[in-house]
Amino acid sequence: MITPRCAQGWKIMSRFLTVALLAVLVALAVPAGQSDQSAPRTPAQPEQVIARTPADEHLCLGNPSNATPDVNHPENYLMEKPQYCLSYNRDHGEANWVAWHLDAGWMGGVDRTNKFKADKDLPEGWYRVLPRDYARTGYDKGHMCPSEDRTHSLEDNSVTFLMTNMIPQKPRNNQVTWKKLEAYCQRLVRQEHKELYIYAGGTVSRGILAKGRVTVPERTWKVILILEAADGNDMDRINQDTRVIAVDMPNDQSIASDWKQYRVSVDAVEAKTGCDFFSRIPREIQSIIESRVDDQ
Ligand code: MN
Ligand code: MN
Repeated sequence: MITPRCAQGWKIMSRFLTVALLAVLVALAVPAGQSDQSAPRTPAQPEQVIARTPADEHLCLGNPSNATPDVNHPENYLMEKPQYCLSYNRDHGEANWVAWHLDAGWMGGVDRTNKFKADKDLPEGWYRVLPRDYARTGYDKGHMCPSEDRTHSLEDNSVTFLMTNMIPQKPRNNQVTWKKLEAYCQRLVRQEHKELYIYAGGTVSRGILAKGRVTVPERTWKVILILEAADGNDMDRINQDTRVIAVDMPNDQSIASDWKQYRVSVDAVEAKTGCDFFSRIPREIQSIIESRVDDQ
């Protein structure tokens, strides 16, 4: 029985099945007389398929606000997509947080599909924010899970353009500082053989757009856990030395271009958002990695 990994279990499983299939083919190809008769061969058992949901991957390290897909909690409504998971806040018209796992498997050569659209997966009767709700407001439709993090297929990329993955970001935040941090994360994966668990969102309402349907965050924050890319259970590879980056940036045009100067501890983002990040990581390790401010 293989241990289901919290992320990529499916990939491991398909690798396992490929190996198992090859082993069967090799066994069939070897004449019976040459096989080792002393060890009784157990017939290959079909591996049990482990039910996997997007949350098994993207929320592998925890669901920061215990969001659930319960319409009676419109302020913390869990939405799972193959590409990312999020906690939606109906009255804010945006997510409290968006979470996604980023490894090389999610990245390919697909171009930006660039088609922003309302999210039809919102519960019936809830207002579906439209791309035009952001028009002429002075705010960008700011991706949480970036388009560039989902370039393996057109479908993956197009899902990043759903409006539930957007928050209003000032152009200089979105296009300069935030974007540089996104690019840094992509470089870690593409060039430095890392895999990441990322959470992002905005805090504290400054105002509202679209007749009160969309809240403007005063600050934007991001929490990133960085691992060497590897197979096996990601949780087992997390320890007190695991690198974590957290940032808390002003969502305005005065923002400096260097994201590094906005680094804070995860604890600081937790205090501000009321979220508990990495809740599945043992408490002793959480308290160490969450109190540190990255300085690499
Ligand atoms: Mn952006
Ligand atoms: Mn925590």
